Amino acid sequence: MKGRILRRAVKLIDDALDLARRGEIELARDYVTLAKEYCSKTRTKLPLNYKRKVCRKCNVPLIPGVTERRRIRGKILIRTCLLCGWTRRYDLRKNKGENKEAKDGRNRR
Ligand SMILES: [Zn+2]
Repeated sequence: MKGRILRRAVKLIDDALDLARRGEIELARDYVTLAKEYCSKTRTKLPLNYKRKVCRKCNVPLIPGVTERRRIRGKILIRTCLLCGWTRRYDLRKNKGENKEAKDGRNRR
C-alpha cells in the first residue's frame, strides 16, 4: 500500500520536472503540491533525492538554469530558487552524494 503511494508521488514529481522544463511552471507547482499532500496525508516519506528536486518553500521543481541557480563558492554549493528566492547551502566536503549532484548540475549547463 505504501509503496503504491510512494510510486505515485514520485511519478508526480517526475512529471512536474518535465512540465517545468517545458515552461509550465504553475502546473508543475500544482503537481508537486499534490505529491507533498499525498505524502503528508499518508505519512509517506519522500526519498531524499526527490525532496531535493523541489523548492521547499514554493513547491516548484528545481531545474538548474530554469527555476534554480547553482553557484559553487569554494566548497559550498549554493542553490537558489529563482521564483521565491529560497536559498540553501550544501557543504560539498561533507556529503559525497551532494558532490555528485553538484557536478551533474554543472555539466548540464
Ligand atoms: Zn521557491
